[in-house]
Amino acid sequence: MKKVLVATRTFGRYSQEPLNFLRKHDFEIVRSDSEDLSPYLKDVDALIVGTPKVTKEMMENTKLRIIAKHGVGVDNIDIEAATKLGIPVTITFGANAASVAELVIAFIFASARKVVSTHIEVFQKHSWPSVVGIEVQNKVLGLLGFGTIAREVNKRALCFGMKVIAHDPYVSDEDIKENGARPVNFDKLFEEADFVSIHVPLNASTRNLIGEQQLRSMKKTAILINTARGGIVDEKALSRALKENWIAGAAIDVFEEEPPDPSSPLFECENLITTSHTGAHTLEAVYRMNMMAAQAVVEFFEGKVPNYIVNKEALSNLNEKGFRR
Ligand code: NAD
Repeated sequence: MKKVLVATRTFGRYSQEPLNFLRKHDFEIVRSDSEDLSPYLKDVDALIVGTPKVTKEMMENTKLRIIAKHGVGVDNIDIEAATKLGIPVTITFGANAASVAELVIAFIFASARKVVSTHIEVFQKHSWPSVVGIEVQNKVLGLLGFGTIAREVNKRALCFGMKVIAHDPYVSDEDIKENGARPVNFDKLFEEADFVSIHVPLNASTRNLIGEQQLRSMKKTAILINTARGGIVDEKALSRALKENWIAGAAIDVFEEEPPDPSSPLFECENLITTSHTGAHTLEAVYRMNMMAAQAVVEFFEGKVPNYIVNKEALSNLNEKGFRR
């Protein structure tokens, strides 16, 4: 019997099916809600992981054979080390794209109509403010990154009559145009957009990609939306931008440190709305992520090559070690 460590709170929480699926295929399930997985990783064959860190030291000298990321952002996993150790890492490609895109759309409308601040005034302070928002139609939405989630946002935004501009150095201008958006360079994205929405992965080249220079170049009326990763936006610069009204507001699902420190200057910004890294948290997306992660683990030990391995090279390193599944 193989052991799988499940280190993501939503796995099997709303449906028993993923747990039953693993058990039916002879897996013993070990669970951890801890941020430190090292004590658990010593004795498991597979890992299904959400956001806890997976470092080289944690993977070395273990019998861990596969990591199934419950989601798509692999910035919490040392991929280079996993590759060298012959540990393939899979992602649940596309499973949460619609859900994250829908949160972006919710952020756009909530910001445009000041829904959260008005709710607080009426519901908590019992006041009756006269609030004037803006329409979303004909506004320019700037997408930084034009991958899976950005394309879902693009489709929806076009339906609302928005004009979409996008910047992604790894996607051709033709591809962006065919999807009804207009390709622009990095600087223009910030200068021209009424809403900027971030959809790039967090890595060495995107860390603090958006700082004072970009925020100062945005329109004073613009809104910044980040559902990708904290760390892509310099939080100190963002809090200054919000307090000093370089931009009108921001809506963020993700922080550099999660949960964020209550002393973060971001909490002093009344023109910020936040959620708690729940972009992928819908019943539908959770179910799809649960099942795709469980299937990757099962398929791997059945000797198949699971879909959506981010480090295919790990498979040849694994074969060199003569490991048989
Ligand atoms: P994806 O890989 O399909 O798309 C990412 C896009 O970013 C790619 O097209 C890539 O070419 C582009 N890109 C990379 N570097 C860039 C740069 N410097 N400038 C512009 N474009 C760049 O990924 P996705 O599924 O769209 O997800 C995007 C990110 O969203 C993930 O990496 C993850 O961190 C985050 N995410 C967050 C949640 C959440 O719960 N809030 C859920 C899912 C994903």
